Amino acid sequence: MSRIVVKVGSNVLTRRDGKPDVTNMSALVDQIATLREDGHEVVLVSSGAVACGRGAINPSRQLDSVASRQLYSSIGQIRLINLYSQLFGAYGIVIGQVLTQKENFDSRSGYLNQRACMQTMLENGVLPIVNENDTASLTELMFTDNDELSGLIAAMTDADILVILSNVDGIYTGAPSEPGSRLIGRVAPGEDLSGYVVASKSGFGRGGMGTKCGIARKLADEGVAVYIACGTRPGVLVDLIRRPAEVPHTLFVPAPDALSTVKRWIAHSASFAKGVVRVDAKAAEALLSDRPTSLLPVGVTAVEGEWEEGDIVTILGPSAERVAVGRASLSSAETAEAMGLRGQRPVVHYDYLYTEN
Ligand code: GLU
Repeated sequence: MSRIVVKVGSNVLTRRDGKPDVTNMSALVDQIATLREDGHEVVLVSSGAVACGRGAINPSRQLDSVASRQLYSSIGQIRLINLYSQLFGAYGIVIGQVLTQKENFDSRSGYLNQRACMQTMLENGVLPIVNENDTASLTELMFTDNDELSGLIAAMTDADILVILSNVDGIYTGAPSEPGSRLIGRVAPGEDLSGYVVASKSGFGRGGMGTKCGIARKLADEGVAVYIACGTRPGVLVDLIRRPAEVPHTLFVPAPDALSTVKRWIAHSASFAKGVVRVDAKAAEALLSDRPTSLLPVGVTAVEGEWEEGDIVTILGPSAERVAVGRASLSSAETAEAMGLRGQRPVVHYDYLYTEN
């Protein structure tokens, strides 16, 4: 039995005219019901609120991007979740709506609260359907897209598998429409894809292949198997889990040495960092070595920003390169005071340090 997070994009769930694509949605629901019958636990991260709302109303005046996102998602999310509720209801599956935003992940207590909520839902056999709370999110604090959100959810729920369903079969060596392009079936841990990823996006969603690839790589490094596949292909989801060889996809093979859950949280928290700790070359080298090393004040050369104990900080090396992200055990004021001194408490303990190598 696996815990599977399925992320499905707006392009799979909505028709060209912006109305919900009920055929694709019910095909997806059928497949999730089958996976649950097979004994798997499923979490669904579903986009489509904005797209569904857009098809439902003609605003009385020209709206800016924030206002239109708020208006459309307020209408579309209800339609989306109602449809899911009916479709899953036919299988006797109870769904729960989780609307979240970036702020809910930026402190350990917020993160643990979200995690506990998902855990309770799963324990009770409820299928969580997650989306960003688009009516409340501040533009500058939004998730890049639901791919980023699905990565956070997969890491947070200790998922074994993340399936990202979009409108292409996976990652190609060039633009999928070009004749010479080939689908990349497997991406090994550490394999360089920078020459391949086509930074294009299509249709309604916010994401593109570039972000999908970045998220997939990160999750695979953390021990989660990530599949990218085409959500409109009949039976794709069940096939991926039961007989993956028979369906086109890109698999990011999980790294064998998975991270602890605390480190997973930190790895996903870089964008929430409250401050920067600059370190000298010796400290940078020690942090990046194979030995477990805490960041000590003696190696710190500068403190930027203000943070409290427990906040996330970014650690930069002498050439401003990012060395690590960590959860500080000293505040910015305490770090500034102890900077350069020996025999002090660590700024970031090894157990709370996620290095870039
Ligand atoms: N949260 C947005 C929606 O439901 C989708 C964001 C995305 O495209 O990734 O419409």
